[in-house]
Amino acid sequence: MSVTAFIGTLAAICTTVAFVPQIVKLRKQGGEDLSYPMLFLYLAGVLLWLVYGLMIHAAAVIWANAIATFLITICIALKATPPKKLGRSPKRLRIAVDMDEVIADAFPKHLSRYNEVTGSKLTKEMVAQHGLRASIPEDKWEIFQAIAHEKGFFADLAVIEGSQAALAVLSQQHDIFIASAAMDVPYSFDDKFDWLEKHFPLVPPSRIVFCGDKHILNADVLIDDRSRHFKQFQGTGILFTAPHNASENAPLRANNWKEVLQILLDGRTKAVPAKQAAKALSMNPVES
Ligand SMILES: [Mg+2]
Repeated sequence: MSVTAFIGTLAAICTTVAFVPQIVKLRKQGGEDLSYPMLFLYLAGVLLWLVYGLMIHAAAVIWANAIATFLITICIALKATPPKKLGRSPKRLRIAVDMDEVIADAFPKHLSRYNEVTGSKLTKEMVAQHGLRASIPEDKWEIFQAIAHEKGFFADLAVIEGSQAALAVLSQQHDIFIASAAMDVPYSFDDKFDWLEKHFPLVPPSRIVFCGDKHILNADVLIDDRSRHFKQFQGTGILFTAPHNASENAPLRANNWKEVLQILLDGRTKAVPAKQAAKALSMNPVES
């Protein structure tokens, strides 16, 4: 073989085999980052080279471009195949989880203290039916708000049912962050931090975010009972049902942690109607 033919053959092998590592990567990670225009232009190019090789009877040009055509076709097929069929692991999501009314059961204590201080008989069903603001007389609104500012209010809250187990499951596939709008009650930092350390040791301090406006969060998912946090949030908001939001219509709502898992692990995206949220609340024991 002449030097010229050797160099030509080596070049043909290199440019043709170059697609093999790409195919391996496609099988592992899917083809989201690969562009169809590039693939089809490349395919057109190698097909034209193949025709050219046939016309001039150049063996190296023919076999190199025939193999390249085959490999590029495989690339296009793999890119077009849904990731699940490739056995690709789902994307690791960054999930931000609110505290109060999502993992920490603050409302029953809040309601109980309010009834104790004012002599009222407000129930969570009343709040779910009429809304929080309409359920509390104007002259008692400040009293209600002040309760969360009482020293130690957040220290001994009960854990929302199913939240520990659900976050343990989710943390195996996704990155969990706790995001609390703790600036609403700045004195709550220590109590909330201690509470998380006690009940959610799987969340390291580096993944606890005490903030003001949550739209600053760079997360894929935010699970929160306050829909106002979803307004400028760039990811997907899941409204976690609480008495004060039971009558709201939300694109994506979870009445409990089982439903959060259905959304995040099974891909349920159908919205739960607000009336179902109120019904779900009424099935829980009333604490007032
Ligand atoms: Mg909350």
